[in-house]
Amino acid sequence: MQIYLTIEDMRAASRAARLGGLRLGLVPTMGALHEGHLSLVRTAKQQCEAVVVSIFVNPLQFGPSEDLAKYPRTFQRDCELLTKEDVDFVFAPSVEEMYPEKAITYVTVEGLSEKLCGRSRPGHFRGVTTVVAKLFHIVEPDLAFFGQKDAAQAAIIRRMVRDLNFPVEIIVCPVVRDIDGLAMSSRNAYLSSQERKSALVLYRALKEVQRKFDQGERKSARLIEAGMNVLSQEPGVRLDYLEIVDPDTLDSVREIENPALVAIAAFLGKTRLIDNVLLTR
Ligand code: AMP
Repeated sequence: MQIYLTIEDMRAASRAARLGGLRLGLVPTMGALHEGHLSLVRTAKQQCEAVVVSIFVNPLQFGPSEDLAKYPRTFQRDCELLTKEDVDFVFAPSVEEMYPEKAITYVTVEGLSEKLCGRSRPGHFRGVTTVVAKLFHIVEPDLAFFGQKDAAQAAIIRRMVRDLNFPVEIIVCPVVRDIDGLAMSSRNAYLSSQERKSALVLYRALKEVQRKFDQGERKSARLIEAGMNVLSQEPGVRLDYLEIVDPDTLDSVREIENPALVAIAAFLGKTRLIDNVLLTR
């Protein structure tokens, strides 16, 4: 496995791979890898002949009061895991390498970026789309792999690719959960054992919404109410949002006719977690 720290080296390697006729896949991550990330890597390995995993904790997507400084960084271990998965290239640039001094150019998917997490994390999605656009230019992948865990992010990136004609196919992979249902996240490492227990209520609430939907309920207000009832049983959780939206536009849905995304974000102490399920008939 080759590890590249500079844009120039990464670009040369990925161009050589594509010139050699290899289908190239990119898995963008912020490191602190877990089974959720590795599921993307395995899917990429199945669908591509060469795989790049980027590891970059992107300052642009963190708000001023967020956890940039203490975000878990486990580079050595990440590389060991990726070697085991037979990944071809790791791209791990420094902040200085990725962002030229006084950079003032951004990519914004307007409208969508202010929905769901974008409302409570202003600038977050602009940071994500800017760095992902840069990674696409640097790596020039044929396919790029993202997790449904970050459903709004997936919708926003799909929209960016469509609107800006990026020649890349976006593949979205299912949410990977711990055995008890908690969606895997690098931020789970922040949770105390009590907070981790309380955090299970997120998925319980989503499953209750799913259950009511499966019983035939189609009114979002009723479905949300059912989820809220479950959440209210867990006082340790501070809800940010529980919403039912269109999975592409992220607009609220009142009456469910097409597939709909039930998305939740909540604080356990200082840790903000997200999760979602897709309602389909
Ligand atoms: P992150 O390192 O948190 O930026 O995540 C990198 C990629 O892994 C994103 O596309 C995430 O959606 C995806 N991902 C993170 N956690 C999970 C999970 N539990 N299941 C599936 N994909 C995930």
